Amino acid sequence: MSDHVASLMEQVKAKNPAQPEFHQAVHEVADSLAAVLERHPEYRSAKILERIIEPERVIMFRVPWVDDQGTVQINRGFRIEMNSAIGPYKGGLRFHPSVNLGILKFLAFEQVFKNSLTTLPLGGGKGGSDFDPKGKSDHEVMRYCQSFMTELFRHIGPNTDVPAGDIGVGGREIGFLFGQYKRLANEFTGVLTGKGLNWGGSLIRPEATGYGSGYFAQEMLASRNETLDGKTCLVSGSGNVAQYTCEKLLQLGAKPVTMSDSSGYIHDEAGIDAEKLAWVMELKNQRRGRISEYAEKFSGSVYTESDRGADHNALWAHSAQCAFPSATQNEINANDAKNLLDNGVYVVSEGANMPTVATGVEMFVAAKILYGPGKAANAGGVAVSGLEMSQNSLRYSWTREEVDEHLKRIMRDIHSACLSAAERFGCPGNYVDGANIAGFLKIADSMIDQGVV
Ligand code: NDP
Repeated sequence: MSDHVASLMEQVKAKNPAQPEFHQAVHEVADSLAAVLERHPEYRSAKILERIIEPERVIMFRVPWVDDQGTVQINRGFRIEMNSAIGPYKGGLRFHPSVNLGILKFLAFEQVFKNSLTTLPLGGGKGGSDFDPKGKSDHEVMRYCQSFMTELFRHIGPNTDVPAGDIGVGGREIGFLFGQYKRLANEFTGVLTGKGLNWGGSLIRPEATGYGSGYFAQEMLASRNETLDGKTCLVSGSGNVAQYTCEKLLQLGAKPVTMSDSSGYIHDEAGIDAEKLAWVMELKNQRRGRISEYAEKFSGSVYTESDRGADHNALWAHSAQCAFPSATQNEINANDAKNLLDNGVYVVSEGANMPTVATGVEMFVAAKILYGPGKAANAGGVAVSGLEMSQNSLRYSWTREEVDEHLKRIMRDIHSACLSAAERFGCPGNYVDGANIAGFLKIADSMIDQGVV
């Protein structure tokens, strides 16, 4: 660690206590930028990184609502408006009991770099709530979304801040949030992305993060003249990102063999084929059931319950060539990283945000495997959100093929931007440094152009 990074991290920890995920995200970026800051004293004197670390605005609010039993419930809502140097704040909303200020700040910070990589004019933000939609009725979820938006609506707008979905916020929640925004603001605008197709949504948006993660893996493999065809893949999660990662893997000839939720995971040696995946989508998106039911439905597959006390996750110990972590942050610890490497995995494409702990990242980089960090590999979701904003502004919809072509090109461009930045700054083949540097440079130059704001 350079002196500059060490003193920066000391300040970040002192100023933002009890936010370990935020420290982790900042540390990784600061480490990657050492050579850039060395070569560009103007970024240091303008305190660019110090300014990026400090959110432009943090909004925190009470969200009161009444459950189906008539009991008053209170949750906490947040929106972190992190950086608007290159466009309106953009980033998802997460509804999960683990949500707190530190987790959203880490996500907003990552989002700034990711959005810069997409080549689109998107600033960075993130928001959400400690509300748990799991086990709630549709009416409870609707009342919750309406109460949440009743405060949030005054802070967002199609040219100010454009939220989208994330964990716990899918098409159903975006619908309720959009309905309440429209009612309060009295205007129909592209203020949220991930909308339904009948009311301003983009084709391919639901698929985009998972498809993009598959395309990114394809690009990384192509750099070694290989393809995904015939590769065995470990996928975690069974939500939006995991489902469409599996779909793209199947289209590209690969064989996904695992999926999970917070209760456990299934392993299907024969592969999760298109028919089984359609069943999972119905299970998760309509019936809102648990992944354990997969093993009851499909013989030959095995369900393993999560063991919170264990020092590793057995999902990552199966033999495979590729891994697609697509559930949540820090789901691959150092033991998991070792198990992955020992069992043949040499491609990791992160659908989730920061799913690998810092030591795990170091192990992947040291082993020189094809490791695509989340801010590059999962940028397809926000990229198609950006395309949804463009279509809303044009009041026009592109075809599925057109959007998919844009997505493929963007993932290709992100891949080559990572490689060329890594090459230029002396760390060839390192996608972590490459993504952080390429994302940073565009923001830094824009901030210099705009003065001290
Ligand atoms: P969903 O809510 O659709 O699915 C999340 C999945 O991860 C579920 O299977 C969930 O299981 C599991 N999960 C969530 N939290 C935990 C946990 N603490 N431990 C174990 N499993 C967990 O979310 P998404 O698929 O949208 O998001 C998944 C990841 O991808 C997140 O890291 C998100 O930030 C990232 N991402 C999402 C994008 C998008 O477009 N949606 C864009 C870019 C990144 P359970 O149902 O049991 O909670």
